Amino acid sequence: MPDEQPQVFIRLGTHAEKDYLQKTIRLLDGFMVAANLLEATPGATSSLILKFGGKKIAKPYFLDPMTYAYGMNLSYLKSEQTVKTNGGKKTIFAPKRSYAQLALQFGGLFEEAIQRDSRLTPVDFQSSTAVEKTCQSVARYQLTRPSSELAMDEESAPFSDSLPNPYAVMAPYFFVDNDYFDDWLNLFISLSEATANLELDAPVHAVLCADVSFLDNQTAIDFVVDRLPGTGVDGVWLWFSTLDEHSASVKRLRKLRHLTEALSEHLYVYNMHGGYYSLSLCRLGMTGIAHGVGYGEHKDIAPVQGQSTPTVRYYLPAVHKRLGVPDIERAFLNLNITSPEDFFEKICDCTICKGVLKDGIQKFGSFGELDYASAKSKRRSQTAAAAKLCRFHFLINRIKERNAITTKSVLDIRADFKAKWDVWSKEQSVANNADHLPRWRKALSEPDDGEIEF
Ligand SMILES: [Zn+2]
Repeated sequence: MPDEQPQVFIRLGTHAEKDYLQKTIRLLDGFMVAANLLEATPGATSSLILKFGGKKIAKPYFLDPMTYAYGMNLSYLKSEQTVKTNGGKKTIFAPKRSYAQLALQFGGLFEEAIQRDSRLTPVDFQSSTAVEKTCQSVARYQLTRPSSELAMDEESAPFSDSLPNPYAVMAPYFFVDNDYFDDWLNLFISLSEATANLELDAPVHAVLCADVSFLDNQTAIDFVVDRLPGTGVDGVWLWFSTLDEHSASVKRLRKLRHLTEALSEHLYVYNMHGGYYSLSLCRLGMTGIAHGVGYGEHKDIAPVQGQSTPTVRYYLPAVHKRLGVPDIERAFLNLNITSPEDFFEKICDCTICKGVLKDGIQKFGSFGELDYASAKSKRRSQTAAAAKLCRFHFLINRIKERNAITTKSVLDIRADFKAKWDVWSKEQSVANNADHLPRWRKALSEPDDGEIEF
């Protein structure tokens, strides 16, 4: 039951990213804010939700309750913190303030998990009261937390009543761990059902969060297809940890498609960290996708720790993937790209690219510009300006992709993948980064339709 045009929701990772939304939100379908970001900076995040989701711009929004974090190894939620002691200071390893606050907001089992310092498991949800209370508190949080925060601020208080509800309330969800798999999967159904039974003032969406190997487990897929629609939820967000559409096998991509097709007969289906492959499933039941402003088209359930900011690469629209700038430049000669006009015709003609390349084709390097971040830096890293250009170019292209795909049939989409592969597979510097195109094309066909190889 997808709408004609697939929906693209932008997931806000940090406050610094609000500038990107500011300029593009009107062209997007909505946004998603994680509850831990809301708890880290309640005032600023609530204002931001009011700004983009309130009456003036009125974009649909989701408040991801992030409940899965409390069912993982709790050390993921912790950081080193300095605390004052009698007459001194010491460093402790404790839950981050945002997750500690969120647990307090939810209360009940979440608060207990933090206090006892051990994760939630299906054993904690054995009574129906525990399930019901959890669903109530997580739903109440999503429906009331931003407006109650706004009500405390003199300036925003008059608007606090006018903030619309989230587009849908997300049921509490946990990672369907391969240990105790059946118990976690049953809990997924119970939490979805109990939230739907609350008869809230908003639609209810379930979140199916599991390892990518879930897609290899036909029994599990059949169970979800069989049981989820009967819970009464209106939609479901799929999140298969580490499923990277660009490197996934045809088999898994095809399973994702089959699951989407089957669930979409009854529910709205979204991919929580999806890319162009998921978008291309819009003709086959995918209602929409969410991702970050310049990354996040796949996500590992376990947080990446201690890594520096990754380089934001240039999204090559033809192959629907980010590549290093030098790799794309190397293909210019073969592809006869010698002037900005050639570039606009063959690579991208978005406003960002037009602005950057107006002074010549050599300016393409601006997207990958490196510099020493500080006097102490040993290595050069991408400049903030270059990362910003890459992100805006990506967002504009994602919007263009969403608009263009609306008029395409599955056959058109598959033909596109083939046409692009025919061009880009000849470019050595790009070919390795484009070999998902034949896989995506195969995944959109049945194994026996006679035109698999190309
Ligand atoms: Zn561009």
